[in-house]
Amino acid sequence: MRLDDYVSVISEIKLRGVRVHNLKGIDLDLPLNRLIAITGVSGAGKSSLAFDTLYAEGQRRYIGTFSAYTRQFLEKLDKPDADVIEGLPPAVAVTSTRSRPETLTRNTVGTATEIHDHLSLLFARIGEVFCPQCERRVFPATPATVAQAADEFLEETRYLITFPLDVRPDSNRDALADLLRSTGFTRIRTHGMVVSLEAGPLPAPDEGEEVIDVVIDRLKRGTENGTRRLDSIETAFIKGFGRCRLIAENGAVRTFFQGWRCSGCIRVFLPPDPRLFRYSSPLGACPTCQGFGQVVESDHTGWRGSIICPSCHGARLRSEALAVKVDGIDIVALSSRKIPQIAAFLNGLDSRQSDHPVVRQVVGQVSRRLETLCRIGLQELTLDRPLNHLAGGEVQRVKLTAALSSGLVNTLYVFDEPSGGLHTSDLGRLISAIQQLRDAGNTVIVVEHDPEVIRAADLIVDIGPGAGEAGGTILFVQSPANLASVEGSLTADYLNGKKSLPIPERRKAPDRGHLTLKGVRGNNLKNIDVAFPLNLLCVVTGVSGAGKSTLIEGTLYPALRNRIKEESRPTKPFDDLATTRQIDAVILVDQTPIGRSGRSNPVTYLKAFDEIRKTFAATHESKLRNYSAARFSFNIEGGRCDACEGNGFLRIDMQFLPDVLVRCAECRGTRYRPETLEISYRGRNIAEVLDMTAREAFGYFRQRPKVQARLRPLLDLGLEYLRLGQPASTLSGGEAQRLKIANFISSSPGAITRNAGKSPTLFLFDEPTKGLHPSEIPKLIEALRSLLTLGHSLIVIEHAPHFIAAADWVIDLGPGAGDEGGQVISEGTPEAVAKTKTPTGTVLSGILSPERNL
Ligand code: ADP
Ligand code: ADP
Ligand code: ZN
Ligand code: ZN
Repeated sequence: MRLDDYVSVISEIKLRGVRVHNLKGIDLDLPLNRLIAITGVSGAGKSSLAFDTLYAEGQRRYIGTFSAYTRQFLEKLDKPDADVIEGLPPAVAVTSTRSRPETLTRNTVGTATEIHDHLSLLFARIGEVFCPQCERRVFPATPATVAQAADEFLEETRYLITFPLDVRPDSNRDALADLLRSTGFTRIRTHGMVVSLEAGPLPAPDEGEEVIDVVIDRLKRGTENGTRRLDSIETAFIKGFGRCRLIAENGAVRTFFQGWRCSGCIRVFLPPDPRLFRYSSPLGACPTCQGFGQVVESDHTGWRGSIICPSCHGARLRSEALAVKVDGIDIVALSSRKIPQIAAFLNGLDSRQSDHPVVRQVVGQVSRRLETLCRIGLQELTLDRPLNHLAGGEVQRVKLTAALSSGLVNTLYVFDEPSGGLHTSDLGRLISAIQQLRDAGNTVIVVEHDPEVIRAADLIVDIGPGAGEAGGTILFVQSPANLASVEGSLTADYLNGKKSLPIPERRKAPDRGHLTLKGVRGNNLKNIDVAFPLNLLCVVTGVSGAGKSTLIEGTLYPALRNRIKEESRPTKPFDDLATTRQIDAVILVDQTPIGRSGRSNPVTYLKAFDEIRKTFAATHESKLRNYSAARFSFNIEGGRCDACEGNGFLRIDMQFLPDVLVRCAECRGTRYRPETLEISYRGRNIAEVLDMTAREAFGYFRQRPKVQARLRPLLDLGLEYLRLGQPASTLSGGEAQRLKIANFISSSPGAITRNAGKSPTLFLFDEPTKGLHPSEIPKLIEALRSLLTLGHSLIVIEHAPHFIAAADWVIDLGPGAGDEGGQVISEGTPEAVAKTKTPTGTVLSGILSPERNL
């Protein structure tokens, strides 16, 4: 047989009958080595296809590479429900999830891009250890280095090889002499003289402690036998517990330590090992903060915050790691330099040590990554920046760098809305980096809503037409060039310009009061004054890294909270905060996840579950059995499954991997005991209700207006496809954010209307359109405007061009990122900003027709 007979060339991913979540048994062939965009309204099934089918299966195929221990759990993971999945390469997910800025993390730009790992190797292999007290170079002595030192004596010098012995004044010196003799030693050196142990008792001691040298060998420079000398040195190290001395006839003494010990102050250092430089290694991490660089502390008001670690001052590493230098600089100082400076440092190293294999390897690996960081606009970053202190769009670009530099080929990369957090003017660079990943021989799938990114794909897979049960079918698979012919898809209608977002006829005038911040100068903000008009739709714009979050989340939010609630949250520096309209509360609605445990879900979060449990307790059968509402809780004992304590799954700690969830075998994932499930209301039991979508549940509870009132905002905000019991931890950032909005609107529907104007609230939003199809944006704007009607105020950070065009007022930060940003470059109505030559102005002028003048 020829080789060809063994090799089957697979050039397609083949899917048949995929039924994951709402997918309706779809068949799909996807070409390899292409950039594929998956589109559709939210809840259509995009993530179910991209992440829960393709990525999940691509990961499962790695199982063989895990240990038997890990494998036994991975094998229990549900296989994606499909008839055929073939031709799938190993998969990597690139998501933008970022933890809260105040969370402690060991993940930095350096670790995420693996640059830190390579530098650790460099420092371990060519680093030199310097004692910080004595500034002396520290070497570990070996018999060979001691022999080399002896070779430096003048020709014909006589010298001794000895080991030092500390003798306490009160020790029995006769017994000691006997001991040494019986071990085979015949001479010692004390008080500058060599004394024979045969010659009687040891001389009387000096005051205090005394060191005597036990002589191993007597030699003359130039006539030594090399092997014997090495043996003698070795013996000295063994008998002397790692210490050995050379004593010349003129009395000069040199002490050698076998380990890493400073010969000046005897301080012990650790042998350079790559782990010594890793924040996550017990060997390297600062013992006080375990490599987090910060420790958590509570102040007298009970506010818990983190402070810089008092031991390492934020360096994250134990002090011995900082004693290791390459070209006079330690790894922490190097990591605090900006990307181009690190590149220059490595170039210098390379030109001098280009024949050192480790230097060549490390410089090659690190330089590629540094170049990529610069190319996608991240040159302002330093390697030691924690990932959760980056601007939104910076995180995904750092992860993209890691993917681009990993050198993996034939891999499937799955991105979750890579345009998130990016200004339209930043998209070009992002797109070309993603295309480069494809050109390197990979298959790239992006779940995306942004028209520019979608148009850059080789192929568009549109799922729909609706959300949840109303979605889950493939509407079209087409190249962008052939879209014009596509009918019956909202995505195609928007891309073809058949539909576009409405632009309001009139803007609300900024005459309802202002909130003013003066002298704001956190991070890159240049001591700016900003006036936010209140009670209208105010949008803050600017390229990624311009300073939007620093202004809103880092300064305005904590400053206003501290003012209103008398808290002491850490705030970026500013001079003055004033408002001409009453504000009684401030609420930040960001994309951080809701609830850490699997117990939180849409109904518990919206507090609709209490009414639902009461409904079940009020049934005839419950009354007969004396079941109260508590019986239907999965949080307390009674009606819930005991095996999984009402979780429906068991969480398995995988140590170094993310936790794995395995469906509970006892209740088969229902969370409840069989008796509890015997109770039904209108033909469904409590577990079946938790499995309903919000829309189904809304109809089902038509006789329970209190439940309906709580669920209503889910329908209004385009979340009708969510299942009531879907663990909050599985919600996307955009969904979590909309659920938070829903919660506010539903929390006391009557009270809001009655109290409108009595408790005016300022809402701060971070990219609320994230995860929304263009067709859903008008609904979001409507929900936001309903807050204005109630007398509240809104400040929204946004990038979506049509959302900005729909605003009443725009505050544009920039012009660039990092040091090149941090100023208000224009403000006013979208029409006014459209007239400026800024990135935001350019985007707006493409949408707003020039004759509009409001
Ligand atoms: P998209 O990515 O298009 O917004 P998804 O694939 O996330 O949509 O969701 C499609 C449908 O599957 C929705 O009805 C959603 O509620 C449901 N779904 C998503 N994740 C889960 C899950 N972990 N368990 C049950 N249903 C889910
Ligand atoms: P935006 O929200 O406009 O994308 P940010 O306010 O997040 O921008 O960031 C503005 C600048 O400040 C960026 O250069 C960013 O890298 C930097 N920055 C943000 N957080 C920190 C931090 N904790 N430490 C140092 N620099 C930061
Ligand atoms: Zn520390
Ligand atoms: Zn169970």
